[in-house]
Amino acid sequence: MFDLAIIGGGPAGVAAGVYAARKRLTTLLISESIGGQSADSIEIQNWIGTEKINGTELAAAFEQHLRAYANSIVEMHVGEKVANLSAIQGGFSVETSKTVYGTRAVIIATGGSRRKLRATGVERFENKGVSYCASCDGPLFAGQDVVVVGGGNAGFETAAQLLAYCKSVTLIHRNADFSKADATTVQAVLKHPHMQTLTNSEPIEIQGTQFVEKVTVQNRKTGENIEIPASGVFVEIGMVPATNFANQVVELDEFKRIKINSKNQRTSREGIWAAGDCTDELYHQNNIAAGDGVKALEDAYFWIKGRK
Ligand code: FAD
Repeated sequence: MFDLAIIGGGPAGVAAGVYAARKRLTTLLISESIGGQSADSIEIQNWIGTEKINGTELAAAFEQHLRAYANSIVEMHVGEKVANLSAIQGGFSVETSKTVYGTRAVIIATGGSRRKLRATGVERFENKGVSYCASCDGPLFAGQDVVVVGGGNAGFETAAQLLAYCKSVTLIHRNADFSKADATTVQAVLKHPHMQTLTNSEPIEIQGTQFVEKVTVQNRKTGENIEIPASGVFVEIGMVPATNFANQVVELDEFKRIKINSKNQRTSREGIWAAGDCTDELYHQNNIAAGDGVKALEDAYFWIKGRK
């Protein structure tokens, strides 16, 4: 039986893995891939200590860092997906596509994926103007016209960030009003002279040659279509956490995120910690996920040692 199983190989899981190796905890790290969500990013400018790095290089650096310390302490199973996590005598059973492992403790760091926009051209222009992360890609659109899809808090916060340097921001929202977002944020954003909104509307097509050039938006009430010139489309229509495999052992919130105590990353189940974007943590960034992973590992370490 392993001391610890870390599920996930994004910044949260890899950070926990590096710390587990250095603390010599007999650990199993299982992940479909190493690098996490921003492995697809064109350029990451806020990974602390690194002026800029692309997603592929970041993923390679994660793997190199982890393997340098893993030795025989952290057993890495990359390319394996966890299908089910359940409680057993003395710990937990981690069932993957290949086999079943036993462990005393678990850190879940499976992150999630942004809810994808459904409109013609979205896939073609992903990373070519269509972005799911304004704090990551936004500065690349300085001085340009952009669109934000989504009228909740995330949509308005994204608009607020983009207004600092974009020429104009048009926020497209399916509903008639912005009651899903905080009134104060909405008021502040709407006051900005470069801000426009389209309610009862949704994007139906994204067009361009190499990069995004315009978005066709349909009014859901009248059926009328209009074209908005834009080089960036920032999608903020929610996130889908990768937590299904754990829903029998830990408590999830209404959005299927794992509920945690943010002081120590403990979940509702003793012996299971969670870190990063799969949790009900408010902010989703690489540095935050890595910090959460470290916090979870530190707490799990003392818990595991206290039981040996
Ligand atoms: P993730 O990165 O989602 O990693 C989860 C890992 O778990 C993945 O490796 C996945 O393969 C694995 N996994 C999932 N389910 C299972 C399973 N059942 N079994 C086994 N393995 C599983 N943040 C920034 O700070 N700066 C940026 O510039 C930036 N750019 C971004 C660009 C894009 C396009 C996106 C989508 C996000 C970006 N972010 C950026 C946000 C950042 O990527 C996330 O906040 C961060 O990756 C969260 O890390 P995580 O470790 O919690 O989860």
